Amino acid sequence: MAKRDYYEVLGVDKNATEDEIKKAYRKLAIKYHPDKNPDDKEAEEKFKEAAEAYDVLHDPNKRQQYDQFGFDGPAGSGGFGGFGGGSGMDMDDIFSMFGDIFGGHRGFGGFSGFGGDARGGRHAQYRGSDLRLKVRLSLQEIATGITKKFKVKKDVTCNHCHGTGAEEGSGTETCPTCKGQGIVTKTVRTMLGMMQTQSECPTCHGEGTVIKTPCHSCKGSGVIKGEEVVEIKIPAGVAEGMVVNVPGKGNAGKRNGITGDIQVFIEEEPNDTFVRDGNDLIYNELLDFPTAALGGSLEIPLVDGGKVRMKVAPGTQPGTALRLRGKGLPAIQGYGSGTGDLIVNLSVYVPKAMTSEEKSMLEKLSESDNFKGDKATKKTIFQKFKNYFN
Ligand SMILES: [Zn+2]
Ligand SMILES: [Zn+2]
Repeated sequence: MAKRDYYEVLGVDKNATEDEIKKAYRKLAIKYHPDKNPDDKEAEEKFKEAAEAYDVLHDPNKRQQYDQFGFDGPAGSGGFGGFGGGSGMDMDDIFSMFGDIFGGHRGFGGFSGFGGDARGGRHAQYRGSDLRLKVRLSLQEIATGITKKFKVKKDVTCNHCHGTGAEEGSGTETCPTCKGQGIVTKTVRTMLGMMQTQSECPTCHGEGTVIKTPCHSCKGSGVIKGEEVVEIKIPAGVAEGMVVNVPGKGNAGKRNGITGDIQVFIEEEPNDTFVRDGNDLIYNELLDFPTAALGGSLEIPLVDGGKVRMKVAPGTQPGTALRLRGKGLPAIQGYGSGTGDLIVNLSVYVPKAMTSEEKSMLEKLSESDNFKGDKATKKTIFQKFKNYFN
């Protein structure tokens, strides 16, 4: 099945606001919800398609990357990782990711629970929010990939109640408002007649139970403010503006819920030696005149800190570019067309100051036809200039 444009999937236009996107998604999610369409494969596909579109478009960074790159966004860089194969989403993922749309819980609206929740019935699960970090990387760190440690202030599981939110010895009791249903039913008059609508119970927030004595340390939420040292692996080949998503390292979810993610925004330090062009690197070298004329060898620095020796052919002209295959930056897994090259641009240094002896040698040489430049060479050099300005 060909992938449909995310805006088309949600039926919104390119300039839709976050709120419009959320509303459009909620509408589709309710329409195609599996509890409403049991054993309907097509509805399930539509449900997943909408979730995928929403995942990308409700996140300003993913949306910007999608607008820029389409489906080929920098996968694995936190772009559309996990969505590569179309409906690669797991139904459980959809619920844990977009809990906010469904009121912070797996069950929503009044559709009981979520088909096949192995963790037991219609128990509500909170999801901790995501954290955002910025990291500034040198070109060398980008070339090799790097693991960085961050001290992160975040919500952590409450030690006192082990995340349950209940004071020791205090159990839970059935919610008095919804009698354990987690939802409340209202009858409303609509154009189509009387309709029953169901919504999340305001007392227990869909859990069906309430804690008798909330934990004094976390006030019943199961999470407290804390700090954690988090190790984050940045894959090789990232670029300025990319986002690396680290699942499960964000804020802890209330009451032993699902932990949010950390999104790491990549910044790139400027580099004195190399100019980056996608995955290729450009290095400019100035040859001395005798080496350009007679040929020789050059030592070229590599981005990983190493060096490589390179041959210069006799008669090398200024403007010659030599390509060292595979010596550029690695591609991020699943994105781009493989490791880049190192392109060495050669210029030739023309002496500015000379001794009188050197001058007279050059004057003698200038009479030789070999120093006049043949037509073919002139043509290729002029062509290069032309291409450069076009
Ligand atoms: Zn309740
Ligand atoms: Zn507690």
